Amino acid sequence: MRLSRYFMPVLKENPAEAEIVSHRLMLRAGMIKQSSAGIYSWLPLGFKVLKKIEDIVHREQQRAGHIPMLMPTLQSADLWRESGRYDDYGEEMLRITDRNGRDMLYGPTNEELITDIFRSHVGSYKTLPLTLYHIQWKFRDERRPRFGIMRGREFYMKDGYNFDIDYDSAMHSYNRHLVSYLRTFEAMGLKAIPMRADSGPIGGEDTHEFLVLAETGESEVFYDSNILDLKMGDRVIDYDNWDECAAVMKEWTTPYARTDETHDEALFDAIPEDRRKSSRGIEVGQIFYFGTKYSETMNAKVQGPDGKPAAVHMGSHGIGVSRLLGAIIEASHDDKGIIWPEGVTPFHCGIVNLKQGDDEADGACETIYAALQALGLDPLYDDRKERAGGKFATMDLIGLPWRITVGPRGLKNGVVELTNRRSGESVEMPPEDAVKKIAEIYAV
Ligand code: ATP
Ligand code: MG
Repeated sequence: MRLSRYFMPVLKENPAEAEIVSHRLMLRAGMIKQSSAGIYSWLPLGFKVLKKIEDIVHREQQRAGHIPMLMPTLQSADLWRESGRYDDYGEEMLRITDRNGRDMLYGPTNEELITDIFRSHVGSYKTLPLTLYHIQWKFRDERRPRFGIMRGREFYMKDGYNFDIDYDSAMHSYNRHLVSYLRTFEAMGLKAIPMRADSGPIGGEDTHEFLVLAETGESEVFYDSNILDLKMGDRVIDYDNWDECAAVMKEWTTPYARTDETHDEALFDAIPEDRRKSSRGIEVGQIFYFGTKYSETMNAKVQGPDGKPAAVHMGSHGIGVSRLLGAIIEASHDDKGIIWPEGVTPFHCGIVNLKQGDDEADGACETIYAALQALGLDPLYDDRKERAGGKFATMDLIGLPWRITVGPRGLKNGVVELTNRRSGESVEMPPEDAVKKIAEIYAV
């Protein structure tokens, strides 16, 4: 993309309404625009990152054997009356009446809808286990929408639902989700720690929240610092192998890590003092086993192996796809702007032409731009007639991990400069080598 033809309305001033750094930087980089409280338009740069994050979520879900689909945003109130949640959900639910006077709602989540789909089409345990998921907009009329897309009213969420014949199989689904979430967040360059959480009004069931450590997080968390050393890395996981998934689960849930809702002072105090940490965290995902709650109330039964009808065991598993943009920025920025991890960057690298209009500089930039595109990469070429300082400031603000700087002086010696956004380190090299280096980094 040529910046002169792109739409990226960068703000020079810090917007007064932004209380936290991710919100401020997203507004300044022209990624989002509020349309009403807690509801945003995703401008091209923000939309690009949102799609990158969504792609990673899809990839890792499908790797785990979970099946993508799409359910609507608007749902009929009747299904929610069946489960008993129409009244329970309270003011967070946006209720709508259609022209025929039918009660509808903008879905805050999809347990009812998916259970209805399941019971309409699945009659036998032989179809199980089954995990369906979708990535769709949700609406929750939050009392205090704030921090930009971090706590929106309309937000983009991956929600998946497992259907299993019994408790043990459902526990495998739970573990499999945990493993897939670890991989998902790692692929985004994030450290998200699974923490035992409170299951809320349902009570007594299993649930873990995934939290990204950040001062601006809304949750208080307590953990053993040993958990920070754990990594999925490139280990190969057989998602059908119960023991393998259970082992990963055990590895990540052995060190103490809990939110304030389930925090246990005595257990925490038993950890050596130098490893005892407490901080703030942002919830980016949650996995949840809730047994037969919906299958009982909504009569989602299948014929079991013994021929008798059995209520299926279910769980639901969410990832805050849109919230992740904020969480990544909170975890990865400096005073100049965002620093995107390579896995989610909106453009693979920037090209800065220090002297637009200079034949040699323009020619070299065009060659680099074309070479990167030919490799399937997506560079952002700042071809505007602007001062170098302004161009650097824009690139730093929008946070592309790599920048190639091209100017007449370097070209005289046959070199351009390759700069790493995070370390600030620059290395001079011939243009072809810079292209090669970028290709290596993104493994294309
Ligand atoms: P929170 O405690 O932050 O209100 P939640 O526990 O009610 O979230 P879940 O039902 O677990 O939310 O939804 C799954 C994921 O969706 C959350 O882990 C979070 O990342 C994201 N999410 C929830 N509410 C919002 C919101 N208002 N804006 C953006 N993302 C959200
Ligand atoms: Mg939650």
